[in-house]
Amino acid sequence: MDKLILIKYGELTTKKDNRNFFINTLEKNIKTLLEGENIKITKDRVRMYITCENVEAIAKKLQKVFGIYSIVICHKVNNNIKDVLAKALEIMDHSKQTFKVVTNRADKTFNIPSMDYSRQLGSLILQNSNFKVDVHHPDITLTVEIRNNGTFIYTNELEGSKGYPVGIQGKGLLMLSGGIDSPVAGYLTLKRGVDIECLYFESPPHTSIEAKNKVLALASILNQYSGHIKVHIVPFTEIQETIFKKCPDTYMITIMRRMMYRIAEKYSEKIGAKIIINGESIGQVASQTLSSMVCINAVTSKPVIRPVACYDKLEIINIAQKIGTYETSILPFEDCCTIFVPKHPVINPVLANCVAYEKNFDYDDLIEKCLNNIEVIDNLNPSQFEELL
Ligand code: ATP
Ligand code: MG
Repeated sequence: MDKLILIKYGELTTKKDNRNFFINTLEKNIKTLLEGENIKITKDRVRMYITCENVEAIAKKLQKVFGIYSIVICHKVNNNIKDVLAKALEIMDHSKQTFKVVTNRADKTFNIPSMDYSRQLGSLILQNSNFKVDVHHPDITLTVEIRNNGTFIYTNELEGSKGYPVGIQGKGLLMLSGGIDSPVAGYLTLKRGVDIECLYFESPPHTSIEAKNKVLALASILNQYSGHIKVHIVPFTEIQETIFKKCPDTYMITIMRRMMYRIAEKYSEKIGAKIIINGESIGQVASQTLSSMVCINAVTSKPVIRPVACYDKLEIINIAQKIGTYETSILPFEDCCTIFVPKHPVINPVLANCVAYEKNFDYDDLIEKCLNNIEVIDNLNPSQFEELL
């Protein structure tokens, strides 16, 4: 098999001490995402190589793996320049006119300097084809990497997802709703190497089974970037109904969100998540003003990461479209927040008021009950949900 996939590592190459850990995690993630495929991986400190049957399809899947700068379908030949020339003429697109050769010499024992090699190969190509050289704006860039185990040549490079391999930063708990923002927040966190598990608050019968399936569908899309996302479903009805009965309308959402954070904090301890992640964006709704965030955040000492805090809605939508969650997010099934929305939620809540209203009921017991009845869903795959939504 002379065709194989070459992976160029992303930002990880700058972190020298942790390099092996990064590379091994990346390899593990690739194996998880390509489970069932017949692949063979070899790696060194600068590149990873994958040999497999279906290189094009596998290369496409690899575009969703974080920690990869680019993916190249390349051809391996021996280090003899005649063989390199023959393969170059075979893979160069003859409908194009101009080219340049770029040579990287990882094998420094190879006795010709890179520039000289590019010139030599370039002039052989000129003699044996109709191509012309253009070093500034070539139609084709022919890259030649000379290594001690062979020469790798290619003409195009697919963009990788960049970021860090998922898992190198440990775990976070994502508050995942059926909206647009939280899946994007999850994606951005995965990209920084954080492994995520999701927490969804449901309030049946006020929320439907479709709302739950929608969240699972979103998690399954995110799972294409991770491979082992679990969703933990919190039965939240009793807490919501109690808040509805016992607290003033205006503070309902603020208090509900304080309860969500309390549960998220306790549950993150249980599953070993170091941070809580959510899709809050400054000023987007009344519960996301800075005063609201102060009141809501006050119940937890865990770091709460809000990756989209400073993005406009349109910027968030752009990412949602790019990562494939948008179409699912805009399906019309409502989750618990939208059902109990008061007409006039407080925009600048006061912490002392939250504490006073929460004295109207025994929330510790209710929270304990929620935590004891969480449903866990694993092995998520987008095809499971196609017919359910
Ligand atoms: P999104 O913000 O994801 O578009 P949304 O607009 O319905 O969904 P908001 O009311 O803006 O949600 O809530 C802000 C954040 O709180 C969400 O991004 C999400 O992280 C979290 N959240 C809201 N509702 C839920 C829920 N039912 N389960 C889990 N997390 C939730
Ligand atoms: Mg939102």
